[in-house]
Amino acid sequence: MTNPAPDNSNGSHGPATEEQAVLAAEQTAITLLNASDDMALLLDADRRVLVMNERLLKVLGKTQAEVIGRSIYEVAPQPWSRDREDELDAVVETGGSVRTEVDMMDHTVELRAYPVFDETGCLRRFAVFLRDVTKYRRTRRDLLQAEMLRLELQKDRDLFKRQAQLISFVSHELRTPLTAIQGSVDLLDTYGDQLDAERRQTHVGRIKEQVEVMKTMLTDLLTMRSLDSGTLKINPQPVELVAHCGALVAATAEHAATEQHFHLNASELPGPVQLDPDFLDHILNNLLSNAVKYTPPNGDITLSLEHSTDAADGSHWLLLHVQDTGIGIPQAAHARLFEPFYRAENARRHPGTGLGLAIARTYTEAHGGTLTCKSVEGQGTTFTVRLPYRPA
Ligand code: ADP
Repeated sequence: MTNPAPDNSNGSHGPATEEQAVLAAEQTAITLLNASDDMALLLDADRRVLVMNERLLKVLGKTQAEVIGRSIYEVAPQPWSRDREDELDAVVETGGSVRTEVDMMDHTVELRAYPVFDETGCLRRFAVFLRDVTKYRRTRRDLLQAEMLRLELQKDRDLFKRQAQLISFVSHELRTPLTAIQGSVDLLDTYGDQLDAERRQTHVGRIKEQVEVMKTMLTDLLTMRSLDSGTLKINPQPVELVAHCGALVAATAEHAATEQHFHLNASELPGPVQLDPDFLDHILNNLLSNAVKYTPPNGDITLSLEHSTDAADGSHWLLLHVQDTGIGIPQAAHARLFEPFYRAENARRHPGTGLGLAIARTYTEAHGGTLTCKSVEGQGTTFTVRLPYRPA
């Protein structure tokens, strides 16, 4: 290997012994750089090459003689360029080492640059080490791609599983209301003229009730399908929340078959808010109809509205609580409540699909909100819808 050109960048010529000491030190540097597994080079303060190790010379296709004393910007236009600030500028600026990743001849290279100071504290050299990390980066990229593919496959599999569940659900669950309808229709058909008006009315009422059950199931199933196909679009518009919720509670009370007490608590909510009213209706109707379904006669059902400010970041939220004094939810069921088709043990004697909460949560999240539940079995349940507060 050729020795480096003597470095006169400090402009002084010391005594022969000092010069020899410098040369000996530089020779040691060459030996060390060649022993390194990395590509390595030593530059003077003007960024001219003092020494370059064999690995880097090979990559650049140059000999030591061709690079010594020449500016790094001519020798290796990549990754260095005079046209931009580079890692060596950062070393000068900070007086410390720099570690970064750069592109070099279609490879990704980890670059580490260290300052070398003389005894007066003046920056005299840059020691630079380069390590080709392309393979590692590629492996990481391949792994990421494989992981993304796996997630896509998992999504397809989940969708397929859900569709299979839908089919099996339709065939099993629709049988119950259909059988009830069939029974009443047969009875009316065969003995209709022998039944008194009251009994006939009971069977007509049963048919109507079961038709309603089937309609709810089909609506839930269709909604679930459209959610799965990702066609959900929200259409926010100004909504007078207190009046809107008042009307929802009144409509629920009117349709409730059992005697329950309905309440609306609305603290001060200034002016209309931006919301998709259809989404809001879907979420609240679901929670209110569940409250009605799972609360015995004489129970209380309350919809409360409040405005809250997050203490941590000052963001504004709307809180809508639907509270009932009904059968409650067993602790063991809390974790699975929002899964499609899941129904708690104590709810099974009431009709239902187990889809309502999954749909309500998807709608809430589409609005940037959350839907949570607090409940004690036998005491009652409170669902809380938390939506971003956007004054209209
Ligand atoms: P569905 O009511 O049709 O079964 P949902 O998805 O609306 O389906 O609710 C899932 C389950 O959550 C219900 O089956 C029931 O176990 C429980 N649940 C929901 N709301 C209430 C409530 N207000 N009180 C008690 N249990 C409830």
